[in-house]
Amino acid sequence: MPRIRRLDPVVVDQIAAGEVVERPASVVKELVENALDAGARRIHVVLREGGTRRIEVRDDGCGIVAEDLPLAVSSHATSKLTGPEDLQCIASLGFRGEALASIAAVSRFALTSRVPDAEAGAELRVAFGRVEPVRAAAAAPGTRVVVEDLFGELPARRKFLKRPATEYAHCRAWVERLALAHPEVAFRLEHDGRVSLAAEADEDLDARCAAVFGPRVAEAMVAMADDRSDLRLEARVGPPDAARRGSSRLHVFLNGRWVRDPRLLHAVREGLREYVPLGHVPPLLLRLWMPPELVDVNVHPQKTEVRFREERRVVGSVIAFLRAGLAAAPWATRSVGAVGTRFAEGGRRSWPSLRPGAGAGTAAASAAPAASGEASGSAAAAAPSPAESRPRGGPAEPPAEGSALPGLGAASAPAVTPRPAAALGRSATADVLQVARTFLVREVPEGLEILDQHALHERVNLEELREELRRGGVVVQPLLVPALVEVTREEAALLLEHADALRRAGVELDAMGETTLAVRGIPARLERLQPESLVDDLLRLVRRPEFGPEDLIEETLHSMACRGAVMAGDRLTPEDLRHLLERGAELPQDRTCAHGRPVRVVLSVADLERAFHRR
Ligand code: ADP
Ligand code: MG
Repeated sequence: MPRIRRLDPVVVDQIAAGEVVERPASVVKELVENALDAGARRIHVVLREGGTRRIEVRDDGCGIVAEDLPLAVSSHATSKLTGPEDLQCIASLGFRGEALASIAAVSRFALTSRVPDAEAGAELRVAFGRVEPVRAAAAAPGTRVVVEDLFGELPARRKFLKRPATEYAHCRAWVERLALAHPEVAFRLEHDGRVSLAAEADEDLDARCAAVFGPRVAEAMVAMADDRSDLRLEARVGPPDAARRGSSRLHVFLNGRWVRDPRLLHAVREGLREYVPLGHVPPLLLRLWMPPELVDVNVHPQKTEVRFREERRVVGSVIAFLRAGLAAAPWATRSVGAVGTRFAEGGRRSWPSLRPGAGAGTAAASAAPAASGEASGSAAAAAPSPAESRPRGGPAEPPAEGSALPGLGAASAPAVTPRPAAALGRSATADVLQVARTFLVREVPEGLEILDQHALHERVNLEELREELRRGGVVVQPLLVPALVEVTREEAALLLEHADALRRAGVELDAMGETTLAVRGIPARLERLQPESLVDDLLRLVRRPEFGPEDLIEETLHSMACRGAVMAGDRLTPEDLRHLLERGAELPQDRTCAHGRPVRVVLSVADLERAFHRR
């Protein structure tokens, strides 16, 4: 019989470390949070090889007295809680007293600290849990922690570390989050000898956004705020041109704490849906404040998941807040110059769709239905549907090497200076050229405009349908011969249950026997809509349990706007072209299609001059 023994304390800490220390970024997060808790005004993070080789965090906070150093690295020792009552109102970022012990258990660790009024500092070293005696050390007031060789004696864990560039990206993400949450503190991040983020103390939120996202993006960000209820909201949203796949530059703060909550991410995606393609997110900062009793943050060891008392209200408010704020954004209307050239940053070109062959696959991508099931968003929901991931040359992708138009890099392109007066008008009767049966090209006062025919038509449809709905209901065209669609008994019942909402959206349905639906009317302006594909889409929508009647109507409009639009590849007669451009001339939102892909891209005269080295 094997006998039972107590685990060696070093092993206990190494096991516990598994919860707190997953990768270099978790070390960075814990150390910077400690510095913030210590009241630091300046925090300096220095990394080598993405933190896998070395992590150093220095602060000018309150420091630790020499006698307390051994306590700081032992588990369940903290200065931040004194009794159980404190757990109810946690004001500090840390409170579990576990981070330093865990980190020191799995690395070569050095903690050097000096309280402001001490003569000198002291240092404590720990090698993979083996604590050495405290020694005097030269030190500036504040604390410095050095973590080397993370998981060096734990090959099983070390092997899960990714390439330094990837680990660095995770570390940087945490520094960004904490820097955005604390504009009052100066931050500096260095990686392999290069300063990659520098932010001064006492900045306002806009200056902090500039430090984190780059001045170009920050300048183009739209600011919005709503403090009319006990749920206060504030946001900065970057332009669609700066959107990238994944949500690494999406920052949500709840009562000052960075959180990654699937429901909030879902709400943000929904709010953004008409501005960026599915799965893409622009640089975005969302801050929420609500009474602490409405939310529980102590759900998760890393404290990034939360529980809401009124989840529906929170999610609904975030969606409505973002949609309302974005409807007024400059990029939602025609008043901005070249979409493709203004906002790119860091040498990345963001010119959409100018590569040879970029139009290929557009038809399939455009035909992707409006609301695929993806939106129910987990943190990893960035996974694109196959159609969406086609290389459409969307805004996130730099052009291939040897781009057809050298010198169009956005990095150096200043904002387009609109010509006065006429600059904002567009003539729908100007000569238009259809290219690759996908793009429409024409001269506009600013220069050259390229439109995506499907995206434009989809947006036109959506805005017109919405307008009709606002006036009481979408105008229905009765079908001379009802279209009969076979469905299951359950599907028929489900659709008929929503017949009233669907009628307001312009769809008239009834039953012809138990498994046959008769589509008797469709929106009058959508001549191209096929009743069969319409029924398929509607079935998908009515199965979404979270949709109320208003959501269902809105989603139905989205789906029909897309299905009823010309596709890439459709040849358009001059008459079609003229009609489409006329309808597109007066839209409240004409920059992106209902899926958030660009509708139009303007190449300014200045852009052309640069391309031809005339500037
Ligand atoms: P927690 O932050 O949950 O208290 P940690 O293991 O992260 O636990 O830190 C243990 C203790 O060490 C803290 O409670 C604090 O007293 C002290 N400490 C850690 N880092 C610093 C720092 N940068 N400046 C001052 N004190 C620190
Ligand atoms: Mg801590």
